[in-house]
Amino acid sequence: MTAKTILITGASRGIGRAVAILAAQKGWSVIVNYLHNDVAAQRVVDMVRTLGAKSIKIQGDVAREDDVIRVFREASTLGPLDGVVINAGIVAPPLALVDMTLERLQRMFDVNVLGAYLCAREAARQMIKSRGGNGGSIVLVSSIAAVSGSPNEFIDYAGSKGAIDTLTKGLAKELGPQGVRVNAVRPGLIDTEIHANAGQPDRARRRGLNTPLGRPGCAEEVAEAIIWLLSDLSSYNTGTLLDVTGGV
Ligand code: NAP
Repeated sequence: MTAKTILITGASRGIGRAVAILAAQKGWSVIVNYLHNDVAAQRVVDMVRTLGAKSIKIQGDVAREDDVIRVFREASTLGPLDGVVINAGIVAPPLALVDMTLERLQRMFDVNVLGAYLCAREAARQMIKSRGGNGGSIVLVSSIAAVSGSPNEFIDYAGSKGAIDTLTKGLAKELGPQGVRVNAVRPGLIDTEIHANAGQPDRARRRGLNTPLGRPGCAEEVAEAIIWLLSDLSSYNTGTLLDVTGGV
């Protein structure tokens, strides 16, 4: 498999971090985007370099257009992008819609939807053949919540991920003729820090017991699916929504 240069949004922790490490094990160059946690991002960069691959970190809020444009511009200094993982995402404490504030809804859709669209746009601008790009693979990180709707908990988050599924389907059709494949993974309950940020650190471990496989997933299991979609092994997949849920 040929070496690639990939940019991962939200790669300082969780699923993005696992993708960075797995990509490094394949010898791919890795650009680590993050929001606040510079120490965690540097640790990922150091680990990637220890594995013999090139890596840089670039801070930037995916919800801000100027940040996204800068992140993609700086990323290209490591080499033309072959792959982009649009992974950065947030969740908020469980609430019914009737109790959600405008501020919560705004930030949820700014990060999870607007952020994904801006990153997908910048990825397309660099990768499409009609603008001099080499083509490549974009993988978006959706959620199985897009199917369940997450009533009384995360209906905002679920809707934001529904938008990711639709973006994946539409953009795959736009970019297929340009040599860029666009796919998404839809994880189920994955044991990362995102649940603590929503005030429920043990959520994945607790709810994971009720899945057909009887446990939550780990970030590395989602990363395997993402790496496959980034790689040439999935060369006839585009517009695919790949569930990684333990059977939910
Ligand atoms: P996580 O452990 O909380 O990590 C989130 C990552 O995103 C961190 O690197 C964080 O950077 C970064 N980030 C957050 N907001 C950002 C922003 N505005 N701009 C740039 N980076 C930002 O989350 P995770 O569980 O790995 O989730 C990754 C993706 O998988 C998300 O899209 C999530 O919705 C999706 N997902 C997760 C699960 C699950 O059960 N874990 C299930 C389905 C889908 P800092 O370290 O700087 O804060």
